[in-house]
Amino acid sequence: MKSRFAPSTTGEAHPGTLLSALLVWLDARQRGGRAVLRLEDLDRTRVKPAWSTELVAALEYLGLDWDETVVQSGRAAAHEAALDRLAAAGQLYPCTCSRADRAGGRRAPDGGWAYENTCRGTPLPPGGWRAVTANLRVQLPDEHVTLVDAGGLDLSQTPARDMGDPIVRRRDGVIAYQLAVVVDDADGGITDVVRGRDIAPSTATQVLLQRLLGYPTPTYRHHFLLLEPHGDKLAKLHGSIPFSTLRARYTGDELRALLAVAAGQPPDVTPATFDWARVPAHDRVARWTDGLAIE
Ligand SMILES: [Zn+2]
Repeated sequence: MKSRFAPSTTGEAHPGTLLSALLVWLDARQRGGRAVLRLEDLDRTRVKPAWSTELVAALEYLGLDWDETVVQSGRAAAHEAALDRLAAAGQLYPCTCSRADRAGGRRAPDGGWAYENTCRGTPLPPGGWRAVTANLRVQLPDEHVTLVDAGGLDLSQTPARDMGDPIVRRRDGVIAYQLAVVVDDADGGITDVVRGRDIAPSTATQVLLQRLLGYPTPTYRHHFLLLEPHGDKLAKLHGSIPFSTLRARYTGDELRALLAVAAGQPPDVTPATFDWARVPAHDRVARWTDGLAIE
């Protein structure tokens, strides 16, 4: 069994990031598996090296150890090789549609707008995918994916219709999340993926990408999220409770205990006492008043 915690380093670590790390680590250690830390730093327009350094420090502070650390930006050759294979199979096409073209259309399961596969069939230029200056998409098979994750969440979809063909390389040359995650999980020998429920709607798309590339599909489990009040709605927790604030207020053990209790576990949870059955099924709200409160 080999699992990974794969945060994007596009901001300061926050309680939601750390909660996810704790769950991945407890699960892997309980099962005697290996745990990989993968720093997802491909989006060079949003990533800062300082945030990778801080994240590593935050995990040490919580007492979470990793058997391996992978920096995603070091894996460009593997990502390009996957694009070469998809291009050779005739699955890649340039897409010049803008976000505005999709707006007002059909809603996708992730809450965004579905892509109607408008540019399917557009050939690659003579220079191949490397010469494309538009977004590059992969044509998915139009098949239905039946999938229920380890927590019982039904992720079944017909991704090519429900979401639309995914972007695998952005027009600015950045390898897109959907491709990088599939290639890196496969090359890393990842057997189990534990991650936040916000990514659940992408899972069926990733399964089809795995099939196109001849990779096995790992076992998935998606956990609850920490949300924050955002106007009169709740949004995924982001930068409002940064790690620097948490560190100034709590010791690593205190913060770990707070996160453990938020996850339905005893404050001194260990891999031996961790129990998925006690992890809440529903998202929770995190607030900072005179300290971290998770309701
Ligand atoms: Zn298009």
